Formats: sequence, C-alpha cells, structure tokens
Amino acid sequence: MLGAMQDWDLRVTHLIDHAAREHGSREIVTRWADGSETRTNWAGIRHDALRMTQALRRLGVQQGDRIATLAMNHARHLVSWYGAVGVGGVLHTINPRLFDDQLEYIANHAEDRVLLYDAAFKPIIERMKPKWTTIRHYICFDNGEFEDWIGAEDGVAEWASGDERDPCMLCYTSGTTGNPKGVLYEHRSTMLHAMTGLQPSIFDFDTRSVMLPVVPMFHAASWGLPWAGASAGVKFVFSAVNDAAVLCELMNREGVTHSAGVPTVWLATFKHMDETGIDLPALRHAIIGGSAAPRFMIERLMKAGVNVAHAWGMTETSPIGTTGAMTWDWADKSFEERVDVKQMQGRVPFGVELRTVDLGDPTVVLPRDGKTSGALQVRGPWIIKRYFKAEQDAVTPDGWFDTGDVGIIHPDGTLQLTDRTKDVIKSGGEWISSVELENAAVGHPAVAEAAAIGIYHPKWDERPILVVVKKPGAEVGAEEIKAHLAQHVAKWWLPDAIEFVDEIPHGATGKISKKDLRDQFRDYKLAEA
Ligand code: AMP
Repeated sequence: MLGAMQDWDLRVTHLIDHAAREHGSREIVTRWADGSETRTNWAGIRHDALRMTQALRRLGVQQGDRIATLAMNHARHLVSWYGAVGVGGVLHTINPRLFDDQLEYIANHAEDRVLLYDAAFKPIIERMKPKWTTIRHYICFDNGEFEDWIGAEDGVAEWASGDERDPCMLCYTSGTTGNPKGVLYEHRSTMLHAMTGLQPSIFDFDTRSVMLPVVPMFHAASWGLPWAGASAGVKFVFSAVNDAAVLCELMNREGVTHSAGVPTVWLATFKHMDETGIDLPALRHAIIGGSAAPRFMIERLMKAGVNVAHAWGMTETSPIGTTGAMTWDWADKSFEERVDVKQMQGRVPFGVELRTVDLGDPTVVLPRDGKTSGALQVRGPWIIKRYFKAEQDAVTPDGWFDTGDVGIIHPDGTLQLTDRTKDVIKSGGEWISSVELENAAVGHPAVAEAAAIGIYHPKWDERPILVVVKKPGAEVGAEEIKAHLAQHVAKWWLPDAIEFVDEIPHGATGKISKKDLRDQFRDYKLAEA
C-alpha cells in the first residue's frame, strides 16, 4: 500500500518557483568587475532563467546535456544555474583556476555542450577552444551576448519535468593526485541539502537575511547557497571580484547579515578592516569552511558578535557535512570554551552519518571517545555513491564513503579533524597530525603560513619538518618557533627542522598543495638522519 499524499517531486526548479512567487521582489545585487552595479530580484532571475531554457532549447540542448559555466559570482551566473537545470540539463561549474590540462580533461570528460563564461576568462577560452572537443556554443556573460541571447525569448515556457533522481549538477574535485573526478548531484539530493542548509547551525536563513557569498559559485556548488538562498528568499549580494575593500564596502552599504568563505577570505577581510578601521556592524553569521578556521579568526568574529559556523564538507558531500554549532550547555560555557567548540568541525545535521575506522585496518570501527583518531567515513542522501562515469562505486560494501580525512569523534558527536589520510606523518609507528602542527605554528605572531610534511628517517620511518612563510617584515628563527610549538604539542611531535620559504604552493581552490610541497622537498635530508 502507498501513502496518500500529493506527488511533488524534489526537483530544484521548485526552489526558483517558490522564490519568485513568495519572495519575488527580494533583491539580487551584483557588483561587476568593472565597478558597475546591477539589481534584479528573484522574479527577474526566474524570468531570465525561463528565457534561457527557451534559448537552450533553440540550440538543440536535450535533457541530460551538460551546460558549463566559467564565471565568478553574479546574477547572470545565478540565472544560468536555474536555466541549465530548468531545461533538464546538468549544470557544470568549472573552476577557472585549474591548470590547462585539468581544464581540458574535465570539459571533455563531462562532454560539455554549451559554455557560458565571463569576459575576464576569454584568454582561457582562446587557449582551450582547440582542445575542447564537445563544446558547440560559447556565450559570454558580460559583453551583451548573454543578454541578447536570452533577450530574444519571451519567458513563456515550462521547466523540463522528469525524475527527482535525475542529475542536475556536476562538480569536479580538485584532486591532489590523478585526474579530477566528477561528482554528479541529483535534483533530490540537492533539494534535501538545500532544505538542510536553512538550519540555524548552518546558514541560519530567514527572509531578512542578506547574504554575500564569497565562496565562488564554481567551488563545491558554492556550498549550496544559490539553492538554499532561493528557498528562504534571501537577498543576495554578489561581487564578481574578491577584493576585500570592495567586499567590505558592499557589505556595509547593502546591510549584509550573512557571509561565507574559506579562511583566507576572512584573513584578507580582517587585514582591510585593520588598515582602514572599518567594522561590519550588520554581519551576524559567518560560515567558514574548506579548510580549518584558525582560532584567532573564530575568536575575533565571536567577539564582534558574529555567530561562526565552522563547516566541514567536500565536493563529494554536496558539500555540507558538519558545522560547529552551539551545544546544549552553551549558556554554561566560558568564552574560551565556546571558542574550543567552534574550533572543531562540529556536528552533523540530520541526514549525515559519520564514523571513523582504524587507519591500518578499515574493518575496525573506532569508538566516539574524543581520543582515538581514524579515517573519517560518511553516508547520507547527499553523499556521493559513485564518481561520474566511474565503473565502480566509491563506497564500502556497507555504503560508507571514505573521505580521506582523519579525525576524532567526541562522545557528543562533535567531529575534530586532525589531518588528511595522505598527510599524517608516521613516526615510530605513531601518528603525528600535520594540521595540529600547522595550527600551532600560525598562532605565532611572525608566521604567515606553515605546512608540515613527513621526511624519510631511517630510524623513525618519517619525521616532520615545518615549512614556514614569515609575515612581511617579521623576524623569527627556528628555535623560537620550536619553543612556541612546544607549548602546544607533544615533544616528540616537534619538527626535526624548520625551513623558511617565500611561498608555499597552493592548488586551484587556494588550499596548500602538500603534494607539490613534498615534491619540492623530495631530496631533502634531515641533518641527523
Ligand atoms: P573540496 O572537495 O575541495 O571542498 O575539499 C574538501 C576537503 O577540504 C575536505 O576533505 C577536508 O580535507 C578539507 N576541509 C573542508 N572543510 C574543512 C574544515 N572546516 N576544516 C578542515 N578541513 C576542511
């Protein structure tokens, strides 16, 4: 027997219909790269998205075809998200910071048919065009072409219908080894994820929220914000450039209450605030994720009365996995204890399950004891099952996806990430967390950035070295940094050497590339080894 409720498939076009119907006049503001500004609203986004579906149909785009974007954050990019899924297509957001061989691989692997791009990325298009074998149509967002293209349509159209398990979006992971891998989101998984994002512990949206997403629309589905934002009818403020001065000015002028970005974005914002003395008085909710948020960052935002949602997730998890939410005994906690809680990666929302397994023997599930660290596995309705076009599932026989992260789960369910599986340093059979060493190192006032890697050691197998970039004008020696670290980590964790460099290599999403760093130090010999 089936239940007797209405059929209302979980397709993401319901989001834009709702936003246009219930929050139609809520503004969507764009500050473009040339400094100009445009304003539309949710009703306007829906109308343009419908016109785009008509224009795509005219190009012969079929259900399931991949429609790619190579663009920063702006209203037309938002239109293209809904236009692409509206025609029954699969939106493929490409990260313009990828290397050419990755760009070549992913567009061809995805079999992209149409590419919408920002004029700023024209050099990439010119370079890649001869190598991209499936793209038939190139449309520029900001030279009048996009406007003319959809301008020829009247917007009197229907969204494509289909199954809620149909794909709607494709994102490739940055991948530190091998080719990038595609994660194919479904309408259903995206809808469940969008509704989950509204929770206070995650985006904390209501109809008064004004969100400036600094996280790019090409990174991990912009954390699902363009979908969740529509369901809550938030006002979006987009900036096509990521300059801290521009962002701060926009935040204050538009009354931005919510923002989201990786730690480096917040660092740049703080620097600008310190240089100019400005505040962000309207800001009340900051989502920080993508890599670990340093303690001082959380402290500073909390002291300014901002609620910090320190989030862990991956492209493979849509990406919401956990967020550092308030605990039931929040009122009894001191400020320091509250920062301790927020510094960890937090707890799952309903719909995500976590477990850790032994790093050496993955059949052994570890206790949630707040002490034992292991390989982090995850499952749920918006977690990957299989990579795009892969022949095998990416999950264990009992359905868990191995994240490649290493962490501890506390008795109350709080996740504390300690490393990546590939980055933990094994010394004398015991694990050293490179992340904890790095976190301790950046706590030193003269250290701008630090990365710990394992170096071969004949006796201990591996020993850590710490690679450090000093802050401009700062002077500090290896011994001083070691003494500082000794206050935070066990003595046997202390790096055998500290190397000062001008720059640490970063990947396309701005994270430290340990692989490149290890390559750089491949022939490094420890003095006493
Ligand atoms: P990506 O798929 O590019 O979004 O990268 C996902 C990876 O980023 C995760 O597997 C983690 O290693 C890392 N990551 C994401 N959020 C956090 C966080 N809050 N703290 C530490 N690492 C994080």
